[in-house]
Amino acid sequence: MIEHCCVPLCSASAKFNSSLSFHSFPACSDLRSQWLINIRRDQFTISPHTKVCSRHFIPDHLIEPKTPEGRRRLTKDAVPLLFEWNRYSIQAPWLSVWERGERPADPTSLEDPSTDLTPSSLDTSCTENEDLSREVEELRYQLHELRVQLTFGLEQQRLQLRRMKMCLIHECQGYDNVFFHPKNNSKG
Ligand SMILES: [Zn+2]
Repeated sequence: MIEHCCVPLCSASAKFNSSLSFHSFPACSDLRSQWLINIRRDQFTISPHTKVCSRHFIPDHLIEPKTPEGRRRLTKDAVPLLFEWNRYSIQAPWLSVWERGERPADPTSLEDPSTDLTPSSLDTSCTENEDLSREVEELRYQLHELRVQLTFGLEQQRLQLRRMKMCLIHECQGYDNVFFHPKNNSKG
């Protein structure tokens, strides 16, 4: 019987790809349900022939054979993590939060999304991290500029208010002279 992968959107079959290995579901029921959740098939009946291909496991979960005849095995805690719907890459939680927001156009985001399939996804997150800290630096600088402008603006307003106050005082003094000057009083 030709082994094939039960993961949705994965058409891997041992017939066409001999470099792939096919792995049975784990015996532990907790781990087994975690697998089913991850492959998005929680209402799925598993038979001994139901397999998940090695494309869905991160290298840390795969034990490569020591001999050319050996079979690739899984670590005890292995769970399928890489799928068509996450472009076969795992993203750190902060990265997915970052990607949810509006992103400024930068050379990395203009790249073909299919390039994410390469194992360099970690490198990409490093670059994005650098971009992020650069942006934080820029924003910090802008904030500083705005603060300076605001302080300056407030200072200007304060000066203007003081000038207006002085004018008012002068005018009041003028009125005082008009109303209380003995000359004017005698005229009125
Ligand atoms: Zn597969």
